[in-house]
Amino acid sequence: MTLAIHGLAVSRGVAIGRAVLVASSRVDVAHYFIDAADIEKEIQRLRDARDSVIDEIKRLLESVGQMGPKEAPHELAALLEVHLMLVQDEEISAGVKHWIQERLYNAEWALTTQLEIIARQFDEMEDEYLRERKADLEQIAERILRALHGAGSDLTGHHPARTHRKPSQQDLLLDDTVDVPLVLIAHDLSPADMLQFKQSVFAGFITDVGGKTSHTAIVARSMDIPAVVGARTASQLVRQDDWVIIDGDAGVVIVDPSPIILAEYGFKQRQMELERSRLARLLHTPAVTMDGEPVQLLANIEMPDDAPAALKAGALGVGLFRSEFLFMGRQGQLPDEEEQYQAYKLAIEGMQGLPVTIRTVDVGADKPLDHSVRDAAHLNPALGLRAIRWSLADPAMFQTQLRAILRAAAHGKVNLLIPMLAHSGEIRQTLQNLQAARDALDRRGQAYGPVRLGAMIEIPAAAVAVGMFLKHFDFLSIGTNDLIQYTLAIDRADESVAHLYDPLHPAVLQLVAHTIAQARAQGKEVCVCGEMAGDTSLTRMLLGMGLRSFSMHPAQILAVKQEVLRADTQKLAPWAQRVIASEDPQREMLGTA
Ligand code: PEP
Ligand code: MG
Repeated sequence: MTLAIHGLAVSRGVAIGRAVLVASSRVDVAHYFIDAADIEKEIQRLRDARDSVIDEIKRLLESVGQMGPKEAPHELAALLEVHLMLVQDEEISAGVKHWIQERLYNAEWALTTQLEIIARQFDEMEDEYLRERKADLEQIAERILRALHGAGSDLTGHHPARTHRKPSQQDLLLDDTVDVPLVLIAHDLSPADMLQFKQSVFAGFITDVGGKTSHTAIVARSMDIPAVVGARTASQLVRQDDWVIIDGDAGVVIVDPSPIILAEYGFKQRQMELERSRLARLLHTPAVTMDGEPVQLLANIEMPDDAPAALKAGALGVGLFRSEFLFMGRQGQLPDEEEQYQAYKLAIEGMQGLPVTIRTVDVGADKPLDHSVRDAAHLNPALGLRAIRWSLADPAMFQTQLRAILRAAAHGKVNLLIPMLAHSGEIRQTLQNLQAARDALDRRGQAYGPVRLGAMIEIPAAAVAVGMFLKHFDFLSIGTNDLIQYTLAIDRADESVAHLYDPLHPAVLQLVAHTIAQARAQGKEVCVCGEMAGDTSLTRMLLGMGLRSFSMHPAQILAVKQEVLRADTQKLAPWAQRVIASEDPQREMLGTA
């Protein structure tokens, strides 16, 4: 039966494919396709792993048998017996084999997929004892995964990024097996999890939790694949392997669609492809408004190897390199100076002489360092030790990053951007740290380059007291995602208050306009690098405020350029003033410029 689930539209487009349900804790399990010729080999790999777990449990049982009741209570042996039974269960093995044979999943992926199906059956059981066996099943899976890891699971030579052909109407009706797109469904995905999927097989994402500008949503947008977050119960309502449609524009997930709905969405997909190819014609057109104002369109990137795609999308530089993605999901092993230097250098070289704005690390809140460790220790992590606060609290880490960036700056034009500043003391300490990093490199006799220093304006206090920042920094970059979050007291990652997250709130518009006006008055460059910059419905408004530099996901650049080409800033300026002063900017915006 067709079912529609509503969530938040966070990344545009339509994806049609089969559901792959992944428990958040299992996201870092390798997902790749094997060659059809390797099916037997993969099944054997699984068999070997299973056999070694069986041996391990049998050995444990034996040693438990030799212990007295005090050292090894009777329950322990019983538990191990249950584990042995589960690991030898033919039905489970047959299920796992099915995913390998029919879908060409690698063993780890096949195992966790089957586990999700069984875990669900356990959840539905009336009998509490049986329901609790789910934990045993998970422990078994964990043991087998470890054994598989030992047996050399490895992505090389496989197809983590195999491109799927689009399914034809007939495919979808005939219920074919391999070679159809897959969409990922999880309760939650951290930004670090998302990085795992960046090179992956999935054509779209759905999560139960998350807000429009949560970092999970931001990474989905940067991957330019359809995504819906905040879909609340999606991971419970959708079953493994169901056909689903993700409508990333409307924020709707359609489960088990009828042929008529499929046809409609197939049409929509083709329309979007047409629109893309139409926009592609603007690639080499300079972004200049009708009244001759040049506008700088820059890219936001997460990893150094995103740079070539940014260039290809027509970006005239990187306006925001979120360096924290180099630090995440590494189980506490932070990248050292050399590794960071190489990463920044790669991004700089990737941009072929165009400027790269590297933001110092911004972890905390919805960007934990490690995807398995959520910050439960602090009540309000978004108001806690985040971004520059974190850097200043760990001077050795900050110094390492600053030295790496300065060294990389010898290879091209680099802007150094500091996130979440609010206090003059933080400005002072940042400048001292930068000087200390230069001094250290001088002492070492190591080459480094000049950097332009920028401050992110993303705390309302910083926007109000922007003069303080203009005095010490070469440029400003407005982080509207956080500016909105902190101005309106709305957790950007919380779907339950997502309806109150409003870029057009008069207070937000006034803070943005004030920052732009003050920077322009002092002849300093100002950019917007939050999600507002890539939202085409806001381009005219920002141009009217005097903004001439926008940094966004590369996929948005041409659509924003189209808006720029149609704009006349002379007319937009008085119109924008009216909108900003209005009690209902949304309504006022409908009036003509
Ligand atoms: C912002 O806050 O708008 C921003 C660009 O930074 P981030 O989204 O990484 O917090
Ligand atoms: Mg921010």
